[in-house]
Amino acid sequence: MAMERELLKHLAKKPATMLYPFEKYQPIEGTRAKIEIDVTKCIGCGTCVFDCPAFALEMVGKGLTCDMKWYPMQCVYCGQCVESCPRNAIKQTDEFALANTKKEELIYEFKRPKNE
Ligand code: SF4
Ligand code: SF4
Repeated sequence: MAMERELLKHLAKKPATMLYPFEKYQPIEGTRAKIEIDVTKCIGCGTCVFDCPAFALEMVGKGLTCDMKWYPMQCVYCGQCVESCPRNAIKQTDEFALANTKKEELIYEFKRPKNE
């Protein structure tokens, strides 16, 4: 009887699931997803690379001339790099749909403007 009661109760409710990707999913506040690096703020200290537990960040070059790479397939989205960066150059957006069939497109490069 308890099961029937539960069944009837849920008949009138909207489904808890959604038809993603046909329906747009609105990430909840505080979602930690895609990394963005503002290399114009970066001083190339390497702290983010050193602190990343998943080896998902790479510095290309040195110091104030370096570019950065982020490997989302390795990233565990912990947010440590955001915490560690002394220049607030890294932020974590709520953009979560990063799937791609081309592996080479799953490396994000953040290049410094040439005139810097
Ligand atoms: S979120 Fe965590 S795992 Fe991902 S790049 Fe930053 S420190 Fe590394
Ligand atoms: S911690 Fe910040 S300033 Fe240092 S290399 Fe990483 S992004 Fe650049």
